[in-house]
Amino acid sequence: MAKFVYDFTEGNRHLKDLLGGKGANLAEMTNLGLPVPPGFTITTEACRHYLTQGTVPDGFEQEVEEHLAALERQMGRTLGQADDPLLVSVRSGAKFSMPGMMETVLNIGLNDESVHGLVKQAGGNDRFAWDSYRRLIQMFGKTVLGIDGDHFEHALDTLKGDRQDTDLAAAELQALVETFKGIVREQTGHDFPADPREQMRQAVMAVFDSWNAPRAILYRRQERIPADLGTAVNIVAMVFGNCGNDSGTGVAFTRDPGSGHQGIYGDYLQNAQGEDVVAGIRNTIPLQDLERLDKSSYDELLAIMEKLENHYRDLCDIEFTIERGKLWMLQTRVGKRTAAAAFRIATQLVDQGLISLDEAVTRVTGDQLAQLMFPRFDTGAEKKKIAKGMNASPGAAVGKAVFSSERAVELAAQGEEVILVRRETNPDDLSGMIAARGVLTSRGGKTSHAAVVARGMGKTCVCGAEELDVSTSERRFTAPGGVVVTEGDVISIDGSTGEIFLGEVPVVDSAVVEYFERGGVLQEDGRDREGELVRAVDRIMRHADATRRLGVRANADTPEDSARARRFGAQGIGLCRTEHMFLGERRQLVEDLVLASGEQERQAALDALEPLQKADFIGIFRAMGDLPVTVRLIDPPLHEFLPDLTDLSVKVALADAGHGEVSVKDRELLTAVKRLHEQNPMLGLRGVRLGLVIPGLFAMQVRAIAQAAKEVPGARPEIMIPLIAAVQELEAVREEAAAILAETGVDALIGTMIETPRAALTAGQVAEAAEFFSFGTNDLTQMVWAFSRDDVEAAFFSRYLELGIFGVSPFETLDQEGVGRLVRLATEEGRAARPDLKLGICGEHGGDPGSVRFCHDVGLDYVSCSPFRIPVARLEAGRAAL
Ligand code: ADP
Ligand code: MG
Ligand code: MG
Repeated sequence: MAKFVYDFTEGNRHLKDLLGGKGANLAEMTNLGLPVPPGFTITTEACRHYLTQGTVPDGFEQEVEEHLAALERQMGRTLGQADDPLLVSVRSGAKFSMPGMMETVLNIGLNDESVHGLVKQAGGNDRFAWDSYRRLIQMFGKTVLGIDGDHFEHALDTLKGDRQDTDLAAAELQALVETFKGIVREQTGHDFPADPREQMRQAVMAVFDSWNAPRAILYRRQERIPADLGTAVNIVAMVFGNCGNDSGTGVAFTRDPGSGHQGIYGDYLQNAQGEDVVAGIRNTIPLQDLERLDKSSYDELLAIMEKLENHYRDLCDIEFTIERGKLWMLQTRVGKRTAAAAFRIATQLVDQGLISLDEAVTRVTGDQLAQLMFPRFDTGAEKKKIAKGMNASPGAAVGKAVFSSERAVELAAQGEEVILVRRETNPDDLSGMIAARGVLTSRGGKTSHAAVVARGMGKTCVCGAEELDVSTSERRFTAPGGVVVTEGDVISIDGSTGEIFLGEVPVVDSAVVEYFERGGVLQEDGRDREGELVRAVDRIMRHADATRRLGVRANADTPEDSARARRFGAQGIGLCRTEHMFLGERRQLVEDLVLASGEQERQAALDALEPLQKADFIGIFRAMGDLPVTVRLIDPPLHEFLPDLTDLSVKVALADAGHGEVSVKDRELLTAVKRLHEQNPMLGLRGVRLGLVIPGLFAMQVRAIAQAAKEVPGARPEIMIPLIAAVQELEAVREEAAAILAETGVDALIGTMIETPRAALTAGQVAEAAEFFSFGTNDLTQMVWAFSRDDVEAAFFSRYLELGIFGVSPFETLDQEGVGRLVRLATEEGRAARPDLKLGICGEHGGDPGSVRFCHDVGLDYVSCSPFRIPVARLEAGRAAL
């Protein structure tokens, strides 16, 4: 028979799936011999059963009863026993921590009789007993019965006046209990349930139900936690921090989650219970001061913290309570930390001999490294923080507040730096978002329109700053404390922390980027800015490089980008686009080429272009030395090189109506542009199709590559044909290219992009004519999903994310089920046809942590990404190999 309840002595920390994080770690601490109040855990499986079937599983209630009875025997008291009650807490605890999202009820088992038993138990401390009772009704009323908490808060505040809660006398608290019971009756039409077992039963069900509370659902979506895990429920014998000044409750970290430094970090609150510490009802004292109040508990706590760190081999955070001088551990887990602390802690633990370098590499993520590479606000600078929102897209942005997209565009055009402030953004705000340095909204979460679009653009964004009252019509917002910011006032926003500051906060470049810019070497004198962090990054990067199997190349098409890519650790160029090389003044030559009326004119245009192209390649080959450079022949739709149809039509029409003049050439041009106009250019004449339709274009490019390679000793060009769908297209180009290479005596691989579904589906055939494949996952994603990246992100992605159609944009993280399936298939069939086929990926996904792992698993040879993402890809490739 299935087992739905585990005593703390039966579990361990590896059972998070079943017991949730809290339960698994309570069990672990119990088995380590730490002072944990006894208790048991109801499994997530029971919760899932309840949520999907609407009832608890067979035998469940009996199993809970058996464990409760065992707890009662152990404690020598029964739940809510009138003369000497056992009290318990009922605590939620899912696999992934969801702070504040789910429910916990303390002091279960109190009623009008047992409260007197509790007085006796506490040696006549009736104040404590009534305080515990009123807390029960308050928490139970709010979380189990669903009563608006304000009713209770209001009654408590009225009673307190200017006093603190600890100033309330027993008689007052007893009266408050009556008031609270009245609120329950009024709000629900029923009396507060006096039966202890009924209290516990209802609390357990409430915890189950809290899994599907709207805020929990929202949180899971934002944090990408699966919706079907369910929560475990922990029943824990109560210990009391609210029975006098020799008692209290606190939280602590085993080291600083901000810097990683070892020390004593925590807060303590005397004579308080549970969440009083975080709720901020009274001021806490620093944990160090506990030494003065209760030396023996303090020493014991420090010893336990050290034991936990050594045991978990990581930073832990803990919750504890002291009941009349006796210390109790109520929770621990491996604690959250900042990106910088993650790197520091990982290497500190290596130095302490607690973990290996392998493990250190797995303890940090590419996302954390990316965070360290953004410029950030100078920590030493004076700042005036006015509010805090959600950290939607990292970075540090400073600018004048503007309240409409039009203003943003207007001021940006005048060279001003602006922050676009909106209640929320919609697709109409796109131009403003592009013009702004950063985006700030007062509504919406991490999947709101503003957040999604800003992340896509790599723009700093703070969203959902609910403390701000934004009035777009009055062009201003109000922050707490009466701060008013009107259009033109300078503000600073920190997308990594969500903080909003008044005025300009100085920005400093990332010390980690400086390190990479130096080619990933530490300064000899050891005087790196933020030296400890940079040394930690250096050690971890070196080990990731030594470990990874996957190569990392860059997407770069200028000598400058190529050089930076190399400094950042690129092992070659995986995508050198050639289209930008045809813009600017060369555009005219391309126009001539396209509109050429005969062989001679065409050849003249090609002859003019070839030396320019050759010079482009020489610069890049020189920057890359003997590393491979994959050059992609020209790819975009033809119309991108021609004048705009509408502009030209208007010009000609105006001239016809007697306004202005147009040249004969313009008239010819209009005819040609009309002839070449496409309804759907991204599916039209582009890529290899262009090469096959315009004679000599690809040949000119291949000749330029070959000639350039001849002039740069050691150069290793690879020629890549874009957008093929059929092997025949590739064969046609290949033949011509191979002939040119043979003629010039240059050795170069010839391969192709795999970016149309048909190319992927026929990869076995395509591989016959290709020495390498490079997956163009941007186009492939567009074609597999049949939506255009340029159009959909603003139009409906936030809605799709809200609906959970995908947890993350498929342009950000490779869609493994759909697009990834084609990549896998093409990899297998391509390699089967040609065992030494080289395989890479050059879409934006090449620098995305989750996608890099997928590329490793599929067995690609390399990923290629923008120069700034190279360190991230290197680190993730190392992690994937471990
Ligand atoms: P959360 O997950 O929101 O932190 P918890 O279940 O940890 O919720 O409980 C809320 C507070 O109540 C915490 O401060 C915790 O330490 C305290 N608490 C929980 N169970 C007990 C107990 N049996 N005795 C005393 N305090 C408890
Ligand atoms: Mg807790
Ligand atoms: Mg493409």
